[in-house]
Amino acid sequence: MVIIMKNDATPKQIEEIEQKLVDLGLKVHRIDGDIRSIIGAIGDTTKVDKRIFEHSDGVLRIVRIMEPYKLASRSFHEDNSVIKFDGTEIGGDKVIIMAGPCAVESEEQLFTIAKSVKEAGATVLRGGAFKPRTSPYSFQGMGEEGLKLLRQAGDEFGMSVISEILEATHIDLLAKYVDIFQVGARNMQNFWLLRELSKTNKPVLLKRGMSATIEEVLMAAEYIMSGGNYHVICCERGIRTFETYTRNTMDISAIPAIKKLSHLPIVADPSHGTGIRAHVAPMARAAVAAGADGLIIEVHNDPDRAVSDGPQSLFPDQFKNLMEELKVITWAIGRSI
Ligand code: PEP
Ligand code: MN
Repeated sequence: MVIIMKNDATPKQIEEIEQKLVDLGLKVHRIDGDIRSIIGAIGDTTKVDKRIFEHSDGVLRIVRIMEPYKLASRSFHEDNSVIKFDGTEIGGDKVIIMAGPCAVESEEQLFTIAKSVKEAGATVLRGGAFKPRTSPYSFQGMGEEGLKLLRQAGDEFGMSVISEILEATHIDLLAKYVDIFQVGARNMQNFWLLRELSKTNKPVLLKRGMSATIEEVLMAAEYIMSGGNYHVICCERGIRTFETYTRNTMDISAIPAIKKLSHLPIVADPSHGTGIRAHVAPMARAAVAAGADGLIIEVHNDPDRAVSDGPQSLFPDQFKNLMEELKVITWAIGRSI
């Protein structure tokens, strides 16, 4: 249930409503917008008499949220959420480009790639330091050494950094180095991890699970938000279907669908979405045209020798061309990069 307060509701009136909800055993989440405050009441609201609130001072109207996700729902927060980090923001007019290697491999590799993606216009540097590999014999990531390099490269080139978090015990470690936690597809429904991330205040990029429905993505976002961390960015990265030509099937329709159902920003990952270098740029262009608030793209200076995801990594020149094309697309839809 959402209680929308009048524009001129006083802090005391807001407090009284919150107290009434707490007395009914409900959890309160408040969003103070520029114009008015919105109070979300989470818990069993079926027995709550709406009229008690409807006629309280300062209340404009009450909305019952029918979806199973509440805080992530657009009924809770009508306007797009704009998530701020490290001087940047996502969810506004600007389309945010995150780029870098699948995995941090060495200082030379990372700095070379960071320099090229920054020059092309990316603002966030990606790079895995803890890698969730299908085979236990594959490269598992550089660990903290990789995070340090990522931070150093981010600082050197004036970029924010994002890296994948594999388990809750790593939160403090990653928090020291990254601006955004990335929850990978394999962990989208690791509810314990999501709950622990909900206690932090850093943005979380939540990747769609390989066979997750849109509702499941939003329920996973709800886990993070229900603990108090509203800084969730959804990410479409392709799903498993009967098609085997591409690594995954990039679900472009998830972008407008999530935008309609939720106020959260959505980013697209055409690298994992296709698994094939030649198809990354077309899917990136399509995702931005479909309304994505950002892209996360794998770029490598020597993809043939990359320790992971070389075949889907763009060469720096390809990334640069793509950025030029995205300038035209964002201009056409009233946005910018
Ligand atoms: C990655 O970003 O390198 C990655 C492993 O992504 P996903 O979780 O989408 O497979
Ligand atoms: Mn990868």
